[in-house]
Amino acid sequence: MTAPLIDPFARAITYLRVSVTDRCDFRCVYCMSENMTFLPKKELLTLEELDRMCSTFIGLGVQKLRITGGEPLVRRGIMGFFRSMTRHLDSGALKELTLTTNGSQLHKFADDLYAAGVRRVNVSLDTLDEAKFADITRWGRLKQVLNGIDAAQKAGLRVKINAVAVKGFNEDELPGITEWCAARDMDLTWIEVMPMGGDIETDSRLGQYWSLKDVMATYGESYTVTELPDNTGGPARYVRLEETGQKIGFITPLSHNFCESCNRVRLTCTGELFMCLGQEDNASLRDALREHQDTEEPLRQAIRAAIEHKPKGHDFDYSRQKQDGQMSRHMSHTGG
Ligand code: SAM
Ligand code: SF4
Repeated sequence: MTAPLIDPFARAITYLRVSVTDRCDFRCVYCMSENMTFLPKKELLTLEELDRMCSTFIGLGVQKLRITGGEPLVRRGIMGFFRSMTRHLDSGALKELTLTTNGSQLHKFADDLYAAGVRRVNVSLDTLDEAKFADITRWGRLKQVLNGIDAAQKAGLRVKINAVAVKGFNEDELPGITEWCAARDMDLTWIEVMPMGGDIETDSRLGQYWSLKDVMATYGESYTVTELPDNTGGPARYVRLEETGQKIGFITPLSHNFCESCNRVRLTCTGELFMCLGQEDNASLRDALREHQDTEEPLRQAIRAAIEHKPKGHDFDYSRQKQDGQMSRHMSHTGG
């Protein structure tokens, strides 16, 4: 009954990313438009429903849970959800509970996250310049995020920085951000801008596209770079900078084919399951959850049926100089 989730291409699904809200206290230019319309609150899964959903996936072999959004830490009561997931860490079924956050609320929640069993967090930060930070996030304040990172490290959380590489914006900060991370013993991952909706019509991502090949070449000029084997099943490639011992990641979903080792699916805050970041195909799990309060079997069946539709790969392609495979949904909806 609880055989693990295996998709039609023999990939075991062991990693679930869950967007717990579409709301955010920032409006990053590559992610949201300034005047976002958010979903009516009643459409969101309740925290209890999120618990049932995640617990069912864990019962089907999911070992890693990443909580994301929108900004996960602005969802009211979210710490209760984290605490309730602790039981799966305690039982050994769940190997890792983690989150991706913009860091704005970390100063409040770092200790509680650690107490709930979280050991690592990804914090998104594209620049160390206060004015540029205000520009790219529209509403964010750099100081607050830096305080959050301090609090996280003090609480014992391992912090990885995710920086979106934006041409003409943070190119010149590559050495500065790298050295800042090294000094604080934090790994760093660069992410290529993806065509995920937002202001894409008026603010073409093509102009902002900064190839991570170039980023990697820049590192080669100043550091001894050792390529590391990839065993995450995800879109990241890693190198180690021998001088600092730092692991630097490169997430290049547009230009590299990582799909054959893909082990993940994404759940939206409304209960839709996206089998692939680059495809619109999704399955709503909400009815199977809501219509059957005392058994999880219909939900398990709905999950298995959805996994049967996990596609072989995605369609993004910038190489033809047009945004083939462009997605209309927002990153904040599916979770980045
Ligand atoms: N609010 C949290 C945060 O910013 O970390 C979690 C959600 S956010 C959607 C997750 C990640 O997606 C962030 O690292 C963000 O920089 C990244 N992201 C958002 N829009 C993107 C885009 N169009 N291309 C590439 N990365 C993007
Ligand atoms: Fe909010 Fe994260 Fe999107 Fe920025 S990237 S607007 S912080 S959800």
